[in-house]
Amino acid sequence: MSDKDKLLPNEDGKGPLRDISGKNNSVNAPWYFGTGFILFWMLLFFAVVIPLFYRLPLALIVEDGNDGEFIGERAYNTLNNLVNIGPKVPGSNNNEVDAALFLLNEIADIRNNLLEEYFTLEIDVQRTSGAHIYSNLLEVYQEVQNIVVKLSSKNSTSESYLLVNSHFDSVLTSPGAGDDGFMVATMLEILRVMATTKQHFEHPVVFLFNGDEEMGMQASHGFITQHKWAGNCKAVVNLDAGGSGGRDILFQTGPSHPWLANYYKKSAKHPFATTLAEEIFQAGLIPSDTDYRIFVQHGNIPGVDISQFTNGFIYHTKYDRTDVIPRGSIQNTGDNVLSLVRALANAPELYNVQAYETGNSIFFDFLGLFFVNYSEETGKNLNYSIAGVTLILIFISVWRMSAISCLSCCHVVQRLIFLLIIQIIALSLSLTLPLLVAYFFDSFGLSLTYFSSPYLLIGLYICPSLIGLTLPITIYYQSLQQNKLPSIYHLQLALHSWAILLSFLALGITAYGIRSVYILTFSIVFYTISLVINLLTTFHDRGYSWAGSVMSFQVIPYLYISYVIYIFIVAMTPINGRSGSASNPDTMIAVLAALGTVLSFGFLAPLINMFRRPSFVVLTLVLVSGITMYLASSTQIGFPYRPKTNSERVMYQHVRRIFYEYDGTISKDESGYLFNFQDRREERPFVGVNLTGSVRTRSECEKHMMCGMPLFDERWVHNRLEGMWLPRETIEPPFPTKLELLSKTVLENKRTVRFEFRLTAPQYVSLFIEPYKDDFVTISNWTFSQTYLKNPPAYPLSYHIYITYGSHSPTIEFMLELSKPNGDFKVPLFQLGVSAHSLGHKGDVISEKFATTFPYYAVVVHWPSEYQRHIF
Ligand SMILES: [Zn+2]
Repeated sequence: MSDKDKLLPNEDGKGPLRDISGKNNSVNAPWYFGTGFILFWMLLFFAVVIPLFYRLPLALIVEDGNDGEFIGERAYNTLNNLVNIGPKVPGSNNNEVDAALFLLNEIADIRNNLLEEYFTLEIDVQRTSGAHIYSNLLEVYQEVQNIVVKLSSKNSTSESYLLVNSHFDSVLTSPGAGDDGFMVATMLEILRVMATTKQHFEHPVVFLFNGDEEMGMQASHGFITQHKWAGNCKAVVNLDAGGSGGRDILFQTGPSHPWLANYYKKSAKHPFATTLAEEIFQAGLIPSDTDYRIFVQHGNIPGVDISQFTNGFIYHTKYDRTDVIPRGSIQNTGDNVLSLVRALANAPELYNVQAYETGNSIFFDFLGLFFVNYSEETGKNLNYSIAGVTLILIFISVWRMSAISCLSCCHVVQRLIFLLIIQIIALSLSLTLPLLVAYFFDSFGLSLTYFSSPYLLIGLYICPSLIGLTLPITIYYQSLQQNKLPSIYHLQLALHSWAILLSFLALGITAYGIRSVYILTFSIVFYTISLVINLLTTFHDRGYSWAGSVMSFQVIPYLYISYVIYIFIVAMTPINGRSGSASNPDTMIAVLAALGTVLSFGFLAPLINMFRRPSFVVLTLVLVSGITMYLASSTQIGFPYRPKTNSERVMYQHVRRIFYEYDGTISKDESGYLFNFQDRREERPFVGVNLTGSVRTRSECEKHMMCGMPLFDERWVHNRLEGMWLPRETIEPPFPTKLELLSKTVLENKRTVRFEFRLTAPQYVSLFIEPYKDDFVTISNWTFSQTYLKNPPAYPLSYHIYITYGSHSPTIEFMLELSKPNGDFKVPLFQLGVSAHSLGHKGDVISEKFATTFPYYAVVVHWPSEYQRHIF
């Protein structure tokens, strides 16, 4: 056997594997090659992944007259005009009148240019009222607005419609360029192109411009449960945003309708999607929601959810403006959505959607270059067979090693098991070291240091993870003494054991039903290909030739995995600035960075042992980590907030709170500012603002129902968003709130009492209701949803009914029936909190002061609020 001759040590000790001690058989290269090797891969990420991640097409301009194409320039101008209206809160004049008129004018313009021989265009303005349970509260809405346009081909008789949705309202603090004006402008341009191009489509397309998403997805609920066209809508394309100015991502499909991903594949010009995003989003790990869920849940239709997500720092702030959006971004989204809408509007599946409910799919794009999708079933088979084939090939390789080195198979397997243990240690270290960094930084009050300087992540988490990945194998390799097995085989076995580890993980996670395991399979399959090549070519026996094949095949999974993880780091970093103070947000970023490092470097990191002085690589990594940690903790580079681009978010309300006792007397009437800090550092970066005299609201939460404050967001109650109360002089809310008890009647059964109330309040009002449970009082009936009554939220939350009025300020009459076993109704039975919010009033001194003294301060929720607590 000629190969065997080559491998055995020559008598003069000059064979290719002459030194089996593992000390001197490194590639003949200078000591810094090991470090250069790691650096090369890092640079590859910046040279390939980053440019492709941010790549945008050139926006088409009107003069070019590209017939039938999405014109980015026109959409951009439309967006600019919409944004100039300012913040568009449901119920405000901006939203209900100005924005609606703007849209109707745009639509009228499109209708004037309609190809009337080909298409019909119908417009309907819907004012809708209803209620739905969202999270732990009941959302009641009155007269919120939808502008609905139906475009149909004249020679088609299809009764199945395609729904396309975006919302034109915004939060109070933002003009809403990215969220969601961008998608509204995109939809208008798509409507214009489709209405003026001689291109037939089978199914009518319903364009829903909805006027209330931000208050709790009210308008989409009103449309899908009540509009005359809702029953015909068989699938939905939902368009929303958690950021702006990047590429649009398809992050939810179905559920259980894999054909939708097929149409995306066929049509999307700039594909961008991953199953991992869908699984993370649907697991509730992202504190956000879209109308897509309303359509799926209440309309029982499948669809696709497409969103902008980069630059989430400005989401819901006053900096969410048109000037931070490149025109190429709207061209990218427009190209994608126009062709997807055209494709779906011709999809035969729309005639009978239920027949195509055939399970979930796995889908992803490769660096934006192409799109891959297959069924979950195929995915399972792929994962199982790739893991199986890999294990078999590793067995063959082990057998071959034993044959060539004249050692028993048992001996080689022993080594393999030993290396497997080392790799398990490496895996654990590479995951825990970044977590330790996250833990220590946070325990010194230094969370979010990477918030404005994302490149710090390299030294903070990626280098520690690499240390974990390389240290055990380096120590092992360096300490190899006279071993019968050639030392190069030890390195091969190290990679084999990594493949075994990943294969078993892939098998386990697949069996658990997680589709995103395709990422592991991605990593394994390219190792397996190089393994086949090395076995066929006997590269395994020629020094480090085999490593060349491993490295070249790892380029693809390396680029892909780092790309996928980068998507999540871009998406999650801004969210960490508003995810509350209860837990350390760095943990998630550390886990992401560690997973990315482990999966992209798993087959590469051990290869530093090919070069001389691999311990030098580990030392370099330690040094880079150390310097970065110093910069992050002790210099301005690591300070978390930057004006305009990376602002801190603080919400505040001007509150007057009045406590009415059982006998109607007032026990408390005070005014103050209520701050809710949204980040882990809370008020500490809030420098320049005098908070003397303020108290934490946490102490109030123990004493009063819902903390005795107008906490209309339940996240504030659990102290996830820490609150502070700063007393100030009495304020007079612009719209006073009045609660009247109209009647109190004991019913015939003597165990139930009925209260009737009349409430006069501003357009946004919360009712908190809590019966005295100690006396076994229960609410047996009321004016509101019976489903919600029977499913009360868990303590410390009380019943919470959030009421939004789209057109005018309400007078609400409602009834409550309370039951009590002993029938004694002459004592306190329940607490009723009324929290009412008016739109911001201008010129408040303190907000001006904040803006000048605290430039990092982004979100000013300028609600003048009134809170009344009553006992009946
Ligand atoms: Zn939105």
